[in-house]
Amino acid sequence: MKQKILKLFPLICGLIFFAGATNFSLGQEAKEIVKSDMDTTVSPAVDFFEYANGNWLKHTQIPAAYSGWGSFFILGDENLTKLKNILSEVEKNRHEKKGSSEQLVGDFYLTGMDSAKIEEDGYKPIQKDLDDINAVNSLKDFYHELVKVQLGYSNPLFSFGSGADAKNSKMNIAQLYQSGLGMPDRDYYLKSDSNTIAIRNSYKALIEKSFMLTGLNSEQAAKNAEDIIALETQLAKASMSRTEERDPKKIYNKMTVKELINLSPDFEWNNYFSLMDVSNPGDINVAQPEFFKEISKVIKSTPLSTLKEYLKWNIIRSASPYLSDPFVEANFNFYGRMLNGIKEMQPRWKRVLGTINGSIGMELGKLFVKKYFPPYAKKRALDLVHNLMASLKNRIQNLEWMSPATKKEALKKLAAFTVKIGYPDKWKSYKGLVINKDSYFGNVLSASIFNTKKDIAKISKPVDKTEWGMTPQTVNAYYNPQNNEIVFPAGILQPPFFDPKADDAINYGGIGAVIGHEMTHGFDDEGRQYDAQGNMKDWWTKQDEEKFDNRAERIINQFDSYIAVDTLHINGKLTEGENIADLGGINISFDAFMKTKEYKEGKKIDGFTPAQRFFLSFANIWKIKNRPERLRLRVKIDPHSPEHYRVDGPLSNTPAFWKAFNVKPGDPMRQPEDKLVKIW
Ligand SMILES: [Zn+2]
Repeated sequence: MKQKILKLFPLICGLIFFAGATNFSLGQEAKEIVKSDMDTTVSPAVDFFEYANGNWLKHTQIPAAYSGWGSFFILGDENLTKLKNILSEVEKNRHEKKGSSEQLVGDFYLTGMDSAKIEEDGYKPIQKDLDDINAVNSLKDFYHELVKVQLGYSNPLFSFGSGADAKNSKMNIAQLYQSGLGMPDRDYYLKSDSNTIAIRNSYKALIEKSFMLTGLNSEQAAKNAEDIIALETQLAKASMSRTEERDPKKIYNKMTVKELINLSPDFEWNNYFSLMDVSNPGDINVAQPEFFKEISKVIKSTPLSTLKEYLKWNIIRSASPYLSDPFVEANFNFYGRMLNGIKEMQPRWKRVLGTINGSIGMELGKLFVKKYFPPYAKKRALDLVHNLMASLKNRIQNLEWMSPATKKEALKKLAAFTVKIGYPDKWKSYKGLVINKDSYFGNVLSASIFNTKKDIAKISKPVDKTEWGMTPQTVNAYYNPQNNEIVFPAGILQPPFFDPKADDAINYGGIGAVIGHEMTHGFDDEGRQYDAQGNMKDWWTKQDEEKFDNRAERIINQFDSYIAVDTLHINGKLTEGENIADLGGINISFDAFMKTKEYKEGKKIDGFTPAQRFFLSFANIWKIKNRPERLRLRVKIDPHSPEHYRVDGPLSNTPAFWKAFNVKPGDPMRQPEDKLVKIW
């Protein structure tokens, strides 16, 4: 239920935004360039994304249960089928040993598939927790319930946990972060365009409906919905915007408990921490001080009855996907249909697998890599990483805008990169977690409490740098600035991104660009503020910093000008880091590709030169079609640009691409000299 990691490690830069499932794929055929997917009536100099993928876009229908379709989605879906096969094998050879991977995963799945019991139980699984809140009649009791909900369900008011100290990346400290909203962004509470208003009304209807399903009459339910939205709006107003949160300096405000109490005097912090079982949390990073000032006001001025209903809403909202059909349907109607445009729900087995992935995903991953991740894939991927590191090193050495002093530090940082490929050397331990055959919701809740407590227990302990922030079956990759590491889960080391059997143009244009993208994050607007050891530190000269900002300004302007959907523009500032990484990634990978025999020989395949196939492979990994609802959501919350512009945006700044497809000055796929972006 809890999505802790993104809240507390907002700097981890995934490759893609994924609403929901984590995924793995295997066995997909190695893909060459598929000519029938292309639209050769479009000039590559005008719109390369359309040229490379146009026919596919025209003829592809997004399946009803998805908010989009294409590369990542297809991989994800195939993955679920593989995971299902693993589970049926587990079922055949039952391993009853308590705490074994097979027992945890097997029993979790069994309870999730027992729809008859889930229907019969209705909302019984949360009844006791709701009753406990009903019985609260003092603020003192409220704190008790608040902590209970934060441990197991969601993050009402704010979130609390551990995370590396940004200036001492070896140590975990306590972290307080803004939270408490039921809609995905503060904008949904504050904007007044018709689309936002429709979403807000639908959210209100969801709250009403959900309370009525737990036995309230329509009048009480409507009153609750109004009070809850008013409270969440107050939190939204005090929240930092996603763009502001991108500045690591802004969200680093380390203070003592005493200073926190001065900042936020009416919230009983000492009481709260001792209920959280951290009576002495030490120094705390308060990511958004203004927000925590407001928390003090909220606790002082909000009627206890409203605070209680708000807590109950947090329980019902986060539990709904695991309760009986009426709850699941109401929840899906808003979060699936309204926000993502999805037409129908995924079948139960896919939803249950998604839940297990989110709860004890590492156990599933352990079974998975044992069966499906071949050692040679790791070796080939590592070779690629080393070739790309050499090419980035070379590019840094030759940058005409950077001074020798800053270059020296940048090279030091690059040389210190940790590379993680496939799956962790040391698996996360779930020792002590009890998963049984009794109740699906019970299992979801115990896993959630287990994960939250494990996170909190890390406060004041050294950072375990061997930990992974994604499961091995995830089709994604990330850079973590505090570990100065690039991480490529087994899930992405698959076609169309990576195929050990395919030729270099396919792999360098695919996974090569992905690897380069993650490396560049170490040097984007956020990542560049951390040093080789992962500490936030100014290692740039003032002049170089200015030069970087001027260059970055151009990419912000370029992406600000693109329309994502309807009349909504991409937010150039929110997507700045990802756009810099996309541009850097393609350049680094092309440089490395130029050193291959295949490039040097220049032999055409299917009528395309090696360079052309490299760029076609790049466009192929972003072959995704989105529903408009998903795009509207992404413009607000996703630091990644829509796929069309992840292809056309960087390529219009890439001279090697112009050369490959004979793009002339004045063509749309070629930025004019005064707008051209050159960073890494
Ligand atoms: Zn990224």
